[in-house]
Amino acid sequence: MIPSLRAIHFLISYGCSSECDHCFVWATPRRLAGMTAEQVDEFLEQIASLGMVTEVCGEGGESFTRYQVLLHFLRRATALGLSASALTNASWVTSRQQAEERIAELMAAGLTNLGISTDRWHQRYVPVERVDTLLEVCEAAGLAAARMETTPESVMFRGRAAERLAPQMPTRPAEELTVCPHEQLGSPSRIHLDCYGWLHLCQGLTLGGESIQEAVANHDPQRHPLVAILLDGGPCALGKYAAELGFQMHHGYVDGCHLCYRAREFLRPKFPDLLGPDEMYGS
Ligand code: SF4
Ligand code: SF4
Repeated sequence: MIPSLRAIHFLISYGCSSECDHCFVWATPRRLAGMTAEQVDEFLEQIASLGMVTEVCGEGGESFTRYQVLLHFLRRATALGLSASALTNASWVTSRQQAEERIAELMAAGLTNLGISTDRWHQRYVPVERVDTLLEVCEAAGLAAARMETTPESVMFRGRAAERLAPQMPTRPAEELTVCPHEQLGSPSRIHLDCYGWLHLCQGLTLGGESIQEAVANHDPQRHPLVAILLDGGPCALGKYAAELGFQMHHGYVDGCHLCYRAREFLRPKFPDLLGPDEMYGS
C-alpha cells in the first residue's frame, strides 16, 4: 500500500514537438505512443476507486500533441471530483487568439493549473515569446499558470540527459552517491502513469502489478527488489548490485540519477516487469 499517494501524473503522450537534450523521457516528434480516450476512462475509474488520490496532471512528452485526449482527461477527471492540471511546452501557441480559445476550452473542461516548461534547452525548439503569450493569456483568463525552468544545476542526468549532457560534465565519486536525490521512493505522494498502464516511481522504474489497484495495494518498498536497494544505499548500492551481474561501474558519475539510470539500463533484462517501457530507455 502507498498511504502517502495523493497525485498521479498521466503521460498522455510519449511524443513531443521538441527533442530537448535534458529530456528524461526521451520524448521526440518521432514517438507516437500515447493514451486513448478509452484508456483515460479506464485509468481514471481505477484511480477514483482507490479513494486516496485527489489530483491528476496531464503531461508527457507534450500532452497537447493529443489535445482531444487531454480535453477528455480534464473533463472526466473533474467529473470524478479530481483536481486536474496540465503541463505544456507552449509549442502550439501560434497566435494569441488561438491561445485564448484553447485556454477557455481547457478551463471549461476543468483545468485548474497549467505548468509551462521553458529554459535554455526548450528554447532551441520553442520561442520564449510563445511562453510569454501563453502566460499573459492565462493571467487574463484567471487560470493559475507558472513558468517551469530547469537550470544547469537542476538537470537530472537520466534518460536523454545521461546520453547527451553527461559526457561534458564533471563527475563525483560513485561511492558518494548513496541517496536517491529526487524521489520519495519509500512514501511517494506522486507517481506517473503511462499508456501501457505502467506506474512509475521514477521515470522507467515502475511498481509492477497487473492493474493500478493491484500495484498500489500490494506495493511494499522493502519487497520491491530495486527500490529496497535504492532505499538502503542509493544509486551506489544499485550500481554495486548491477556490477555483481556484470555492469561496468565507473569511478565517477555526474549525479545519482546518472549512475542509477545506467545501472537500471543494464538491469532491464533481469527485471523486464519493473524497468521499462522501451521509451523511457531511448529504445
Ligand atoms: S523536456 Fe519536455 S518539451 Fe523537451 S522533449 Fe522532453 S517532454 Fe518535450
Ligand atoms: S536516483 Fe534513480 S530513482 Fe532516484 S530520482 Fe534519480 S533516477 Fe530516479
